[in-house]
Formats: sequence, structure tokens, C-alpha cells
Amino acid sequence: MSSRSRPVPFTADDYRARMTRAAETAAEAGLAGVLVAPGPDLVYLTGYQPVNTERLTVLVLTAGQDPVLVVPTLEAPDAEKAVGAPALTLRDWTDGKDPYAVTAPLLDDAGRFGISDNAWAMHLLGLQRTLPGTSYVSLTEALPMLRAVKDTHELERLAAAGAAADATYEEILKVRFSGRKETEIAAELAELLKKFGHSQVDFTVVGSGPNGANPHHEAGDRTIERGDMVVLDFGGLKHGYGSDTSRTVHVGEPTAEEQRVHDIVREAQEAGCEAVRPGVACQEIDRAARAVITEFGYGERFIHRTGHGIGVTTHEPPYMIEGEEQPLVPGMCFSVEPGIYLPGRFGVRIEDIVTVTEDGGRRLNSTARELAIVE
Ligand code: ZN
Ligand code: ZN
Ligand code: ZN
Repeated sequence: MSSRSRPVPFTADDYRARMTRAAETAAEAGLAGVLVAPGPDLVYLTGYQPVNTERLTVLVLTAGQDPVLVVPTLEAPDAEKAVGAPALTLRDWTDGKDPYAVTAPLLDDAGRFGISDNAWAMHLLGLQRTLPGTSYVSLTEALPMLRAVKDTHELERLAAAGAAADATYEEILKVRFSGRKETEIAAELAELLKKFGHSQVDFTVVGSGPNGANPHHEAGDRTIERGDMVVLDFGGLKHGYGSDTSRTVHVGEPTAEEQRVHDIVREAQEAGCEAVRPGVACQEIDRAARAVITEFGYGERFIHRTGHGIGVTTHEPPYMIEGEEQPLVPGMCFSVEPGIYLPGRFGVRIEDIVTVTEDGGRRLNSTARELAIVE
């Protein structure tokens, strides 16, 4: 981890370069341009993070033309303060005016556009009504790799977020689990993530005993008992970039079977991480981890993909899943998180964020992966 506590700030030039690349990639994909709604894509491309509302805000990117941000007049002063604003032309519209009529002259009226997945349907419908000759595709489907390859300063932020999540895990091992509710442990995880610099906590999974067999269980009223396996999976954003790590702990001494299932998941997670190198297809990471679990007879009990990308959000492309043939590229960051889930009994998951280097992979989480015994 960098000794610097503040990350290197992104500049208007960084954002200009990202917008140019997005417009060029869109043109190569046969699109007339890209329409970006408030949310992770807009943050990534401009540094501007307004609330996504019924008032239209949209970034219009077209190859060979300057980026234009359409904003409500009352929000224009905030947009002008965004770090990427010098790279943008602002086009504002006032309440009572038709925002789609303001946007229409910026668009090829027979063009096909990539539009943010999280754009409001009412905005897309408004554009379609105003420009019936246009058509739209999902930006994530059209440009899945838009945010996937991280630059040096993004990697530093992801490493810092990972280190904060690791520090959180080290601290939670010291607390008492038995006799306490899952929600209490979850609250402590959230508090620790914030203590170690997270501005936002996205999830704090505490899956004790049978609850651990449900990968989407967050935390509930169940009281943790001696003998429980407990899946911990937590993360959020620090300096705008994500953390996401899982470890499974045991309250007191584990049975031989619990230890064995944990060993298998650990070996699978190791195999997944070992498979990371440039040029390897995403699905190969899933296959490498899954092969170990299948070999030991638990293939049916590994019920999710092996991993997902991470950046300005905690879940994004690329996905480590069968069928994803996208080759790994240095600078990509994603989770490797195999698990085994035994319904009604317990679950085990181990997760690290890994970044692709020139000749392999480097983990951004480094806490011990052995089954930890807690009180
Ligand atoms: Zn047990
Ligand atoms: Zn996770
Ligand atoms: Zn994850």
C-alpha cells in the first residue's frame, strides 16, 4: 500500500482522455455516439456525480466532437465545479422547457447510440419521441470494457481500498462472535470500513451457520453460536474506488468436514488467482477455480460465477464466468471468489481482488486465507 494517505487527484486531462477514448471506441463499434446518465459511467468520464433524477442530465459523446453535458439550469453551477468540467461544453435547460429538444440537435437523427444502463426509461422514451429515427443499445453491452482497464492512479486507489478492507478483517477477528447477532458483527464491519477510510459501505455479509449457505444473505437476527462457520463478505468505496473481500471464519474448533470444505475452497481460490495473466480469457479463471471444487465432488454446490470487475463500483464488467471470452488485459481488476454452499448447514467463500500485471496477477487483498478461529 502506498504510504500516501491522499490519492493522486484526477485532472481535467485525465477525464478528457477517457471521454475521447469512449467516443472513439463507440465509433469503432458502429455507434453514432454515447449518452451517459448520472452514475458510475459519468463519474468515471467527468468526475461529476449528480443525483440521477427526473430532470435530464446527459453527457453526449460523439467521435470528433467536443463532449457536451446537458444539465438542468439549477444544477449547472455544480456541474461547472466538476474536475472534468474544463473538458466539457455545458448546455443547460430550464424547468418548463423540453430537455429532449435541447439534446436533439447534438444527435445524428438517424444514429444508433449507446446509453447508460441506469438512464431513466422516461429520458430514453423522451429522446425516442423527439428523434424517432434514432435507436439505442445498452452501453454496458456495447462498450463492456469502457472502465475495465485501470490506470496507475486508479490502481493505487483500489489497492488502498483493499488494504482498508484487510485492516477491517484483522480487527473483526479480535471481536467476540458467539452469543451475538449477525447484525451486530455487520455493524462493526461497517464501522471499521469507515474508520479505515471508506466513505461508503456497500455490503456487510455475515452468514452464520445455515445462513452462510445463501450467498446473498446479508445479516439477520440469528444469534451466532459456538460451532458456526461464518461467511464474512464486505466492501464499499474509499476515495471513489471499491473494496470487496470475503473470508470464512469458525467459532471455536471446526469439524474435520468443515475444515476440509474450507481447504477445497482455498485451493480453488488459489487456482483461480494463479490462472490470471494477460491474454487468458475471463472464463478460464472461472474454469480454473471450478475445476478444483468439481474434482472434490462439490461442483453442484458452487452456485455462482467466480468473479466480477471492480472500480468506481463494486460490481462491473469484466465477469469471470463461463462463456466470457474477453481476454485479460494488464490493469484489469476483478474478484476471485469461489464458494461451496451446503443448504441448511453452512457455506464457505474466499474472495480477493486481483489485478492483471504484465506477466501474471497481483492480489490487492493479503490477509491470511486459512480458516481463522474466532471466539
Ligand atoms: Zn462448526
Ligand atoms: Zn464480496
Ligand atoms: Zn465480490
